[in-house]
Amino acid sequence: MTAQPGTVHLVGAGPGDPGLITVRGQRILESADVVVYDRLVSPELIEAARPDAMRVSAGKAPGGRGPTQAQINAQIVEHARAGRSVCRLKGGDPFVFGRGAEEIAEVAAAGIPWDVVPGVTSAVAAPAAAGIPLTHRDWASTATLVTGHEGESKDASPVDWAAVAGAGGTIVILMGVATLAGTCGQLIDGGRPSSEPVAVIERATWPDERITFGTLADIAETAEQRAVRHPAVVVVGPVVRALRGGSK
Ligand code: SAH
Repeated sequence: MTAQPGTVHLVGAGPGDPGLITVRGQRILESADVVVYDRLVSPELIEAARPDAMRVSAGKAPGGRGPTQAQINAQIVEHARAGRSVCRLKGGDPFVFGRGAEEIAEVAAAGIPWDVVPGVTSAVAAPAAAGIPLTHRDWASTATLVTGHEGESKDASPVDWAAVAGAGGTIVILMGVATLAGTCGQLIDGGRPSSEPVAVIERATWPDERITFGTLADIAETAEQRAVRHPAVVVVGPVVRALRGGSK
């Protein structure tokens, strides 16, 4: 006899500060049999799991160390099949550049019940924590969320940067540190002024959060001088100056 499968809860952990998980996410975390967590999740949150819960690190570092996505998916399915409730805890919101959908697709294909608890995404939380409004009645009516990571092959970037530049308003780039110089060049080529303000927010809402300001013309050099590192959110657009006494 096989046990009734446990439910897989895909839970957003928020951007970093453990106070930024949702109440529902915290409750699931505190009651799950198994917690499978990513590298960007605060250790304080993992401590909130039941003392007897299994804690499984699924940390994937840039550069490919740690378990593969297929191994993570297989582990989640295996625990649920054994009748355990699984809290799959992912940084930010699980469906924003988090591969959460790939994990749930496998869980669903295995006939395991699942649900999603939304999280506070770094795409929104990092600018907010830095005092940058993503949208503003006078400064930006659109916000475009985009990955700076180029995918498997450099020639086949999935992003149409000219279209992103042309959309106007605010641009929020995740996974954009390594490719920052190229991205800024593409946005200028796409018609954005080289004087357009840019902020790079590292480790938003963690105690060591750091913000670097510049323009499309100089931010890549400044970021290199300051040794800006992953994880960071890049915000491009006039809103960067909205609360800093600048003009549009
Ligand atoms: N699902 C996550 C994003 C995962 S992709 C979310 O919704 O936030 C990983 C990228 O998220 C990083 O490269 C970085 O761009 C961003 N990121 C995650 N946490 C961050 C933080 N605390 N500060 C700045 N950027 C962060």
